[in-house]
Amino acid sequence: MKTIHIYRLDHLSPALFEHLREVQMEAAQVWNLCVSLHKEARMSHTRWPGRNELQQATKGRCALHSQSVQMIVHAFLANIETTRKLRREHPEMRMKYPWREKRFYPVHWPAQAVALEKGRVILPMGRGRPSIVLPIALPDNAGACTLVWNYGFELHVCVETEQAAQAPGAVQATVDLGEIQLAAVSTNAGKALIVTGRGIRSLKRGRAKQIGQITRKQSRCSKHSRRWKKLQRAKNKVCRRVERRVRDLRHKASRQVIDFCVKHQVGTLFIGNPHGVRNKDSGRHHNGRMSLWEYGKDIDYLTHKSTQARISCFTGSERGTSSRCPRCGHKHKPKGRTWVCRKCGFRGHRDLVGSVNMHQDAFGVHLKFPRSFTYLRPGLLKTGKRSSREDTPLVSQETCCLEQPTAQPRIADTVSPEIGSPVRVVQKPIPF
Ligand SMILES: [Zn+2]
Repeated sequence: MKTIHIYRLDHLSPALFEHLREVQMEAAQVWNLCVSLHKEARMSHTRWPGRNELQQATKGRCALHSQSVQMIVHAFLANIETTRKLRREHPEMRMKYPWREKRFYPVHWPAQAVALEKGRVILPMGRGRPSIVLPIALPDNAGACTLVWNYGFELHVCVETEQAAQAPGAVQATVDLGEIQLAAVSTNAGKALIVTGRGIRSLKRGRAKQIGQITRKQSRCSKHSRRWKKLQRAKNKVCRRVERRVRDLRHKASRQVIDFCVKHQVGTLFIGNPHGVRNKDSGRHHNGRMSLWEYGKDIDYLTHKSTQARISCFTGSERGTSSRCPRCGHKHKPKGRTWVCRKCGFRGHRDLVGSVNMHQDAFGVHLKFPRSFTYLRPGLLKTGKRSSREDTPLVSQETCCLEQPTAQPRIADTVSPEIGSPVRVVQKPIPF
C-alpha cells in the first residue's frame, strides 16, 4: 500500500522559488485550457472532449514534462466525472463544472518520470528544459512526486509501505469521533480508550487569535505595501506552523487508536461518521469550533492506518448514539462530560457512551459499559523547560533515561519526551 511523505521546501533561493512558482503557473495554463475546451463543447452541445482530445490539445503547448501534463488532464477528467455524478444524484447541491480560471496548479510527476540520485531528486521539465533538482534524500521505494503550495512549497512523495504481517484478531471495536475527545474507542472485550483532542482545539484557537491580531495591524496599512507584505508573511508562517502541529497531533492520535486496536486484537473497526451535526445552529462560538473540526481527516487517517494494520474498517452514521442510555435505552441530550441517566441512574463518560451504543448499530451486540478506560494525549503541546517540568512526574524514569542517557540527576532538567511518545496514561475506574 501507499502513503505520502511530505517534505517542506524551506529556504529556497529566490531564483528557485520563482522557478517553482512559474512551473505551477504553467500547470494552471493546462488546466485553464481544459476548462475552456470543455466549456466550449458544453455551450455548443457537441461531444465533450475525452482523454485523447484533451491530451492532443495540450500536447507540447506548455513548458512541462509530458507526463505532468497528462496527469493534469486526468485530474480534470476525474473532476468532470465526479461533478456529473453529483449533478445526477444530488441535484440540490447545484454542482458547477470547473469554470474558474486558475493561477496556480500543483504539478505532479508520476513515478516513472522521477529520477532519484544520491541525496537529491530530479524532476524533469520536458525535453530541452533544465530539470528541477531538489536536495532531498528520498527513500529508495519513493515514487510519484507532487509540488504543492501550502503556505510555502512542499513536495509530496508517494512511498510504498508494507502491510502488517500478523493476522488480525476477532475482536470488534467502534470509534466515536468528537471535537473535545478526538476518539473514544471501545471493544466488545470490555476495553476502552479515549484520545483527547483538546490540544488541536487549543492550537486552532491560538491561530485564530494570532491571525486576528495581525489582520488588525494589516488593516492600518495600505494593501500590498511593504509592511502589509511583511505582515502577510507573518500570517502565513503562523498558519503553516499551526497546520503542521495539528497534522502531527492528528497522526499521533490516530496511531494511538490503531495501536490500541492491534494490542487488543481487533479485527473489525467501525468508525461513526458524525456527518450532519454541523447542520444545527449552535450559536456563534460553538458554530466556529464545529466548523474547524476536521472529522473527515480523522476518518481518513484511521482508515488508512487500519488498512495498514490489516484491520477491516467501515464507517456509518452515528445518529442518536450519544443521546441514548447504554443500560436502559432512555434518550436524552447529555450535558457536561458525564452522562447521567435520568431513568436508571447510570453514570459514565459521555464519549464512551456513544462508542458503546455504536456496537448495537454496527454489530447488533448490546455491550456492557466498560469498567475502566485509558486516557491518552496525542502529544505535547508545549516543548521546553516549563512544560517538561510539569510533565516529568508522569513520565516513567526509563523513558527519560532513554531520551537522555547522560544527564540523569535533576528531574526538572530532563528533556521532555520526544514528540510521538504517548505521555500520560491514566487508568480511571468509573464508579457505578
Ligand atoms: Zn438509563
